[in-house]
Amino acid sequence: MDIEQFRKAGYQAIDRICDYYSTLQQRPVVPPVQPGYLLRSLPDRPPEAGEDFDVIADDYQKLIVPGLTHWQHPSFFAYFPTACTFEGMLGDLYASSTCNPGFNWSSSPACTELEMMMMDWSARLLGLSDHFLNSSGVGGGVLQTTSSDSALVATVAARSRYMRTHPGTKMEELVMYVTSQTHSLGVKASLVLGLECRILDVRAEDEFGLQGETLKVALEEDIAKGKHPFFLIGTVGTTSSGAIDRLEEVGEVLQHYPSIWLHVDAAWAGVTLACPEYRKTAQLEQINKYATSFGTNFHKWGLVNFDAALLWVKSRKDLTDALDVTPEFLRTKQSDAGAVIDYRNWHLGLGRRFRSVKVWFVLRSYGVEGFQKYIRECIELNDYFASLVRSSTNFSLIAAPSFALTVFRLIPHNAFPGVTLSEDLLNDINRSMYARIGARHDILLTQTILNGTFCIRFAVGAARTRKEHLDQAWSLIQEEAGSTIEEWAEKLAAGKN
Ligand SMILES: *Cc1c(COP(=O)(O)O)cnc(C)c1O
Repeated sequence: MDIEQFRKAGYQAIDRICDYYSTLQQRPVVPPVQPGYLLRSLPDRPPEAGEDFDVIADDYQKLIVPGLTHWQHPSFFAYFPTACTFEGMLGDLYASSTCNPGFNWSSSPACTELEMMMMDWSARLLGLSDHFLNSSGVGGGVLQTTSSDSALVATVAARSRYMRTHPGTKMEELVMYVTSQTHSLGVKASLVLGLECRILDVRAEDEFGLQGETLKVALEEDIAKGKHPFFLIGTVGTTSSGAIDRLEEVGEVLQHYPSIWLHVDAAWAGVTLACPEYRKTAQLEQINKYATSFGTNFHKWGLVNFDAALLWVKSRKDLTDALDVTPEFLRTKQSDAGAVIDYRNWHLGLGRRFRSVKVWFVLRSYGVEGFQKYIRECIELNDYFASLVRSSTNFSLIAAPSFALTVFRLIPHNAFPGVTLSEDLLNDINRSMYARIGARHDILLTQTILNGTFCIRFAVGAARTRKEHLDQAWSLIQEEAGSTIEEWAEKLAAGKN
């Protein structure tokens, strides 16, 4: 493809992307395809002779688009949203057009310096303390691929710091902590590193947030056994229910254990810190006071296209002490002089994508006000959905709505006279209802289990979702609940006979 062909194909691609977005609402959220649909349509090896790009571009429309789940669809309420803005797309396009791996400052000064500044902009947007700023010269921020990578990097750095300051400790004596509601990234980090991970209990009465007392008891038990606690992941906005660990209590306990690194994972909910009115709920003060590292994803609810996981540390030396391996060919005079950041020492890979350009485009185009407005609108929409659930006699909220997430279940109190609605029966009924909703293509929700209770998650965040889509979703959920109740009325009656 030469420059003029690229120009033509590029214009066509943008046109088709625009058409995709203007017809998005008429598409099914979930594609009506069966496993193997695409594998059967593709040749099993690359073509011998190169093909015409027009044909390739047409095949994308014909074969790929029909097999996409449309995460930007206004009726997508599953998992968490994944941000996708036109500014973000253009940022990615430019970044990809220069293709440089940006591993150290001199490999492309613009990449490092834009990232340094975007991490500081983002820290200020969220109200993080100056200790996390790159401009502090001590702490700093870096763009990682995902929050899972952020947590892994934090674990590696915490382990390395602990081993350096506690010489003679054996690796198998180390123990890290998560709760039963922590994202799987915690257990995964322990698996990757071969470390013991203790999973702390949380209770429904505490809205599934970690209490200080639980942590204190666990630490005392483990230390009495000769173990070495070195790392804890606290969460602001868990994946299942949006739970928030009690960071004030946790932080007070950790004051007595200064060698333990607290990483706060706010992959989804961290962006709410952009709005001053949510800073108390999202525990900004405690994050600033107690967190050794803090991470949030702009690629979830933060308007920047995947991937953009932001990680901040109060001490950049903790990262570089753990991850700096500098062979001769990577040495530069700027690094040797300590004049620049070499981001390759702040994450696992060597090369890295130029992600900061899309962050720059989005933050400039939206401004702080636009960013806040989007977060507030999503939360308002979710409040509206939660009010629909609350007003129904057949449904209950399982936890208080958290930001833009509602977790609920069907509890049909009066539907089956004479039948006791046991926990097991309610779980089975809700599984049936979820299966019915899951068989539809016009909406997507996800399930979860909270301490044994099967429930349904409803997450608002797609940029095109409006009140009318919530009304539609709610009427569809009620319709499926009605069918579920009929199905179970028959089953229960048959069981009695
Ligand atoms: C989604 C999520 C993650 C994982 O995010 P990745 O960037 O995909 O690794 C981690 N923690 C929480 C609380 C999440 O909601």
